[in-house]
Amino acid sequence: MDFELNEQQLAMKKTMRDFAEREIKPRVQDLDQMPSGEDKSKHQWYILGKACELGLMSGFLPRQYGGTLGGVAACIVGEEVSAIDAGVGMLISTSGLGIAPVAVSGDKAVMDRFFPQLVEAEKAGKPILWSYGITEPEAGSDVEDEKGSRTARLSTIARKEGDYYIINGSKQFCSIASMAKLISVFATVDKARGIDAWTCFVVPTDSPGFSIERIENTMGNRASPTCAISLDNVKVPVENRVGEENQGWFLNRYSLAYSRPAVGAAGVGVARGAYEIALGYASERFQGGKQIIEHQMIQQMLADMAIQIEAARLLSYKAASSRPISDKLSSMAKVFGTDTAVNVSIDAIQILGGYGYMRDYGVEKYLRDAKGAQIMEGTNQMNRIVVAEAIMKEISYQY
Ligand SMILES: Cc1cc2nc3c(=O)[nH]c(=O)nc-3n(C[C@H](O)[C@H](O)[C@H](O)COP(=O)(O)OP(=O)(O)OC[C@H]3O[C@@H](n4cnc5c(N)ncnc54)[C@H](O)[C@@H]3O)c2cc1C
Repeated sequence: MDFELNEQQLAMKKTMRDFAEREIKPRVQDLDQMPSGEDKSKHQWYILGKACELGLMSGFLPRQYGGTLGGVAACIVGEEVSAIDAGVGMLISTSGLGIAPVAVSGDKAVMDRFFPQLVEAEKAGKPILWSYGITEPEAGSDVEDEKGSRTARLSTIARKEGDYYIINGSKQFCSIASMAKLISVFATVDKARGIDAWTCFVVPTDSPGFSIERIENTMGNRASPTCAISLDNVKVPVENRVGEENQGWFLNRYSLAYSRPAVGAAGVGVARGAYEIALGYASERFQGGKQIIEHQMIQQMLADMAIQIEAARLLSYKAASSRPISDKLSSMAKVFGTDTAVNVSIDAIQILGGYGYMRDYGVEKYLRDAKGAQIMEGTNQMNRIVVAEAIMKEISYQY
């Protein structure tokens, strides 16, 4: 593996950094502090329109449909945007998770049905957002249980009637659902068969019976709406089924494996953003007759921050470029990147002392954003279980 970015990747990093500084930074405070509503929505759609100009909104599609953000490129976007605002990172990149089950399924008919629309919408500067719904009020970490487990459950049910499925249930914490035109919904076609009957459907959010129950008042990542949704006899054509019936568990697991390296990289971005503020502050603040960066305890904290950031970035690149995708490496990258975001942002607050605790200095927001990343896309405990499962399998092959 090459540890250096190539010329194209370096150019992309610069473009993304300029974009984040120019288009996102002036809006960070409003996006963080405004409640959901028309004013916030203007900022969100403005940024998404600008993201279209850079091809980011179709970038997550498979290459044959015009996608450009496979592998390390998605990590670069995740880091650069999240260094300024991780919530905007989610606003831009969640559609990548939404389309993932369709891309992973290899179901050409469904891809042809939906993917070209995304490209056209991007050209028009009015992106189609695509949300992802697996979590339910009674099914959180459960959905990640090992294949064959009897504890994993979904209550959302899809009943086939002729050429349609009728879907009933509710989903929790779906990022960007209130802004999305499409959502990938995981449902069971037969509750008695548990995990083996999970199936994924593309559901248009303007379908009768589909509704946003509420937009949550979140601790961080507030640029991205986190939504509870309800499906009440939502009728979707058979053509919207992703792959075959019963493939849902696999599609969820591998969609997450594709998406998690970039979540780890977003954690790197959060950590870097907090670190840069702390480094700047430590060079300017005088206490005890010298700049605080002259104090060895501060130097040690900065060194530990820099070490974690560098290691997390390299792990995210390695996980993103592994082919076939490795769910073990992806989970490692997600855990290490997002734990780094929390560790580094806590230390950054400490370096700013009392000022770090004040909203005006912007460093506490990094901690609020970082905490969410340890929970979303499977909690870091569940991701550690994915790593442990892989280790156990490796051991059983050896002995
Ligand atoms: C900001 C944000 C955005 C999100 N976006 C989406 C989205 O777009 N789509 C979507 O479907 N979901 C989304 N989620 C949901 C997220 O994936 C879930 O919150 C997560 O999977 C945990 O589920 P839960 O909240 O029900 O917690 P629970 O599963 O109830 O877990 C509670 C605690 O118990 C621990 N725990 C549970 N089971 C085990 C176990 N077997 N071993 C060890 N520890 C365990 C968990 O790690 C956690 O600490 C989002 C969440 C957040 C916070």
